[in-house]
Amino acid sequence: MGTPASPALSASQLATLALVGEERTAAVGDVLYSVGDTTYPFVAILEGEVAIVDAAGNEIVRHGASSFLGELNLLSGQTVFLTAIVTEPLRYVVVQRDALRGLLFDDGPLSDLVLSTFIARREALQRVEGIGIEIVGPRASQATVRMVEFAGANRLPFTWHETAPPNGAEPPVVRLPGGTELREPSRGEVLGALGVGRELAAREEVDLLVVGAGPAGLAASVYGASEGLDTLIVEGTALGGQAGSSRRIENYLGFPAGISGTELTSRAVSQARKFGARPATPYRAISLEPGDGRHVVRLEEGHEVAARVVVLATGADYRRLPLDDLAHYEGVSAFYAAGPPEAQQCGASRVAVVGGGNSAGQAAVWLARGGALVTMLHRRADLRETMSDYLIRELDRYGVAVRDRSEIAALHGADGRLEAVTLRSGERLAFSFLFFFLGAKPCTEWLDDTVARADDGFILTGDAAGAHNLLETSVPGIFAVGDVRSGSTKRCAAAVGEGSMAVQFVHEHLAAPAARVG
Ligand SMILES: Cc1cc2nc3c(=O)[nH]c(=O)nc-3n(C[C@H](O)[C@H](O)[C@H](O)COP(=O)(O)OP(=O)(O)OC[C@H]3O[C@@H](n4cnc5c(N)ncnc54)[C@H](O)[C@@H]3O)c2cc1C
Repeated sequence: MGTPASPALSASQLATLALVGEERTAAVGDVLYSVGDTTYPFVAILEGEVAIVDAAGNEIVRHGASSFLGELNLLSGQTVFLTAIVTEPLRYVVVQRDALRGLLFDDGPLSDLVLSTFIARREALQRVEGIGIEIVGPRASQATVRMVEFAGANRLPFTWHETAPPNGAEPPVVRLPGGTELREPSRGEVLGALGVGRELAAREEVDLLVVGAGPAGLAASVYGASEGLDTLIVEGTALGGQAGSSRRIENYLGFPAGISGTELTSRAVSQARKFGARPATPYRAISLEPGDGRHVVRLEEGHEVAARVVVLATGADYRRLPLDDLAHYEGVSAFYAAGPPEAQQCGASRVAVVGGGNSAGQAAVWLARGGALVTMLHRRADLRETMSDYLIRELDRYGVAVRDRSEIAALHGADGRLEAVTLRSGERLAFSFLFFFLGAKPCTEWLDDTVARADDGFILTGDAAGAHNLLETSVPGIFAVGDVRSGSTKRCAAAVGEGSMAVQFVHEHLAAPAARVG
């Protein structure tokens, strides 16, 4: 395993930990925690050594003096995926989870060190076979594929056995660390069994309900909770949204070297929790009933939330091509947006832009002007069916090759670096980068006609909805932010900006005379 470096705690950090923890010793062979345990404490090593092994006994890494044990599940409360065995006589400080949380909130440098190490360790664990949950079921089973996607979106380490489950069981069967087997479980049952989520009462009453935990929803929660609102954020799939699945976000302000989606969103979730917001997953919103004073959002499995204000941040599903290994290339050589960093990266390279709409045309021109050798691949017989004439002329002007009736059937490359694609016609073309512009579908079907939506389904706000301010929908006290909002800029930073800004409007709404509320 490409184990990330285990950074050392400074003498003063060890002393701080000792103040809230307890010093202990352990002998060679002692087990500090093992696969399947429901929880474990933070361990900082003063002297000695500990080996981390998987369920089969394979050694993953060893930690020595001044280093610490643990990964993301220590904070999220997930079931333990690994076993820690003492290999040299140990003197260590043990800090219980709640005490550690308190300390991390108060101590910025320690929080930075621990959090970034936990995130890096989780990312590394996700690449190791045989750790975490096992999903058994064939690729032909849709329920199995959905479970695999769910595990990936939630950054759970998992192994997929693409076979029929034993004893004629319906797929998927999910084996938890420690051996418990769940047959055809719901996504909630898997997370619940791993010790996460499922924390809502049948009816909750809150000031602010945020629906969707992508960058927009997380930003609204951080600002809402930090400004004293009782804030709940419900998420149907995985905390982090689209951004959480992005391998590297290159254009987020303040991260010149880029930041992984996991890191950005894990930090945002911790920040939301720090201010007292409650992120709850997996809870999918299925209906919204505007009310007098409180709006009611019903969730799957019978829960409901009555909220004085609702922020809709459910995003949009970007259409992806159904290619087996596309996820390996995303963020490295396959993209869904073409901005300055991508143009710079693609200069003098062979690039394919996939899609036939104006956004694809604009991206192709932009990349060609940056020096890339661009080919447009689209399905139809003639680009004029889907693209404006002026853009078609621009493509010609900047030397973009256009291939009609061209659909990608397979990708070829290694380590996320694309080398070529095969078209459905069987032709193989060399490309180093792919850009997809296949449109996006807003996650708004569950809203029916409770709030005004544009023809393409995105939520109208501001003037277009006859509302009081930029982010309010046609119903007072219900706001829409991020990708789901009609006319928004579909980028992380824009989503974060809107989520943050919405909270100011939330306060204005709550402060307004009762007649305006609900
Ligand atoms: C592969 C990829 C790479 C990208 N790379 C970049 C990049 O490098 N830079 C950049 O700026 N942007 C990038 N983007 C775009 C960026 O991720 C989005 O603009 C951003 O995530 C939008 O944030 P959001 O919070 O509005 O929506 P989302 O991130 O889509 O989050 C919405 C959340 O709502 C949840 N949800 C939906 N319906 C419901 C429901 N009914 N109940 C409960 N929850 C629900 C979803 O599960 C999701 O988690 C990328 C997008 C993709 C797909």
